[in-house]
Amino acid sequence: MPPRKPRKRPAPEYLVTTKAKAAACPSCGAAVMTGLIWGERRYIDPVPLSLRGEAAALVLGQKTYELSWLGRPTERQVYHIQAGLPAHWKIHARHRCGVCWDHPQYRDERRPHYDRDRPCPF
Ligand SMILES: [Zn+2]
Repeated sequence: MPPRKPRKRPAPEYLVTTKAKAAACPSCGAAVMTGLIWGERRYIDPVPLSLRGEAAALVLGQKTYELSWLGRPTERQVYHIQAGLPAHWKIHARHRCGVCWDHPQYRDERRPHYDRDRPCPF
C-alpha cells in the first residue's frame, strides 16, 4: 500500500473579514459600506445607530455590526447587545433596500472618541 498522501488543509482565507469600504448598493444604488464578513459579502448602512435604532433594526430582522477602529465590522452578538452601546465604536445595521435609519431617534449622535476638536484631557 502506497503511503497516504498528506491531505491539504483548507486555507483560512475563506473566513476572512476585510475592512469596510464605501460603495453603492447593487440593487438600489444607496451609499453603503461593503466588505467581507467571515468570507461573505455584506452591505452595511453607514448611519451609526443608537440603542433605539439597533432595537428597531433587530425587530426588522437586520443584523447589526460594530465597526472597530480598524474598520472591520464585527457582528453584534447577544452579549454585545446586552452590554449597550460600545464605548468607542459605532453600531451599524445591515443594509436593507428602502429602509432609512437617518432619523434623530435612531441615529447615534455621540462624537467619535478620536475627534480632533475635543479638548485635550491633560
Ligand atoms: Zn439597496
